[in-house]
Amino acid sequence: MRLPRQLALTQWPRVSRPAVSAARGLVALALLAAWFSAAWQAVQAQAGISVVEAPPPVFEFGQSVEFRLVARSAEPITRVELYWQTPEAPASRWPAVSFVRGREIEARASIDLANYPLPPFATIRYWWVLEAAAGGTLTTETAAFDYADNRFSWQRRTSGALTVHWYSGDEGFGQTALAAATHALPRINRDIRAPLPEHVDLYLYATEADAKAALQRVGRAWADGHADPKLGVIIVVVPADLRSDFVLQGKVPHEMTHVLLYRATGENFGSVPTWLNEGLAVMNQGQRDSQYPTLLANARDTRGFLSLAELCGALPAEAEPARLAYAQSDSVVRYVRGRFGSEGLHRLIRAYAGGASCDAGLQNSLGLSLAELQADWLREAIYGNEAGTWASTAPWLVIAGLVLMTPLLWLIALARRARGARAAPNNRMV
Ligand SMILES: [Zn+2]
Repeated sequence: MRLPRQLALTQWPRVSRPAVSAARGLVALALLAAWFSAAWQAVQAQAGISVVEAPPPVFEFGQSVEFRLVARSAEPITRVELYWQTPEAPASRWPAVSFVRGREIEARASIDLANYPLPPFATIRYWWVLEAAAGGTLTTETAAFDYADNRFSWQRRTSGALTVHWYSGDEGFGQTALAAATHALPRINRDIRAPLPEHVDLYLYATEADAKAALQRVGRAWADGHADPKLGVIIVVVPADLRSDFVLQGKVPHEMTHVLLYRATGENFGSVPTWLNEGLAVMNQGQRDSQYPTLLANARDTRGFLSLAELCGALPAEAEPARLAYAQSDSVVRYVRGRFGSEGLHRLIRAYAGGASCDAGLQNSLGLSLAELQADWLREAIYGNEAGTWASTAPWLVIAGLVLMTPLLWLIALARRARGARAAPNNRMV
């Protein structure tokens, strides 16, 4: 069941990101307290209904969030509703607020975050609407809380717009992650050419189990990384072990590509086809996945490639087709870059930033339909590669054949000579 969404609510101002340093955290807390106090004063006089107590909600990350409100009124309070809003979606109303009608009520709402996950590390706004028997209503001022993963004690390190957060591993681990992100930024942006983000918060989880609650909104069991480009939040699983450097070089540039693409395309980010979005992200990884050539060769041999039209939409939900989708998208984007250059790739991104459809964006920027791009890519990058591979390896195969043939011919000659000797044993000197 999806939550009902209230229509035509006020357009709330853009929520600023939660403070990222201890000092900024304290300032934010102080401001929040002051704001609560002001809000408290403001709601006292509306419609004869007054709020007695409205503590900030208590949440268990990935599990549940509990809201509570105590109010009183001259007339019995007959309706209590709770609304909340994430930075990325219209306001929602929680349909199950429990309270007993009366002149003084205690309302409670418990949201099951496993079924209705909130965006991790986002600021969530909420407010109550109360109605009394005589028809008077009270809408409380909007309050807010930061939905941070409070199960861990996060360390953080910042450089410019980038902040790395981690809880496992030493200072050097955080420094390595920050360096990987900082160095990747100009390389990622060479084709995208986006204005740099105001902030990117990179959260490093030590295990997939730890990250599960943070990745539950992605809805794919195989995901071990995710970017929320609008929030500038990146979540990746990177164990703080000997391979961490290698893993960071792959996952961090991948997710940062999504953030930069969002910066380049804004509200039309949804128009960027998956083959371009994921293809760019995979191409920008520090190293190419060693299994991709095999995946592509298998798809070529079984004619199992996904169509580019399919890859305009979401990634396949299953892990295996999703892996092929990544490999194929990477290959297509490399092909486009090789044929049209960085400028062509940039033109393509600009077309989608303008809200073009999957096919029209390609047609308008590079003069190809999806079917034509797929056919050209198959011919030149996949089957052409096969011919190229044969052409480049053929001379070596001839040399290898000659090298192997020489001892073989020599063995055959020896065998023939031995047969000749057995045929005339008496010729031997004794
Ligand atoms: Zn991706």
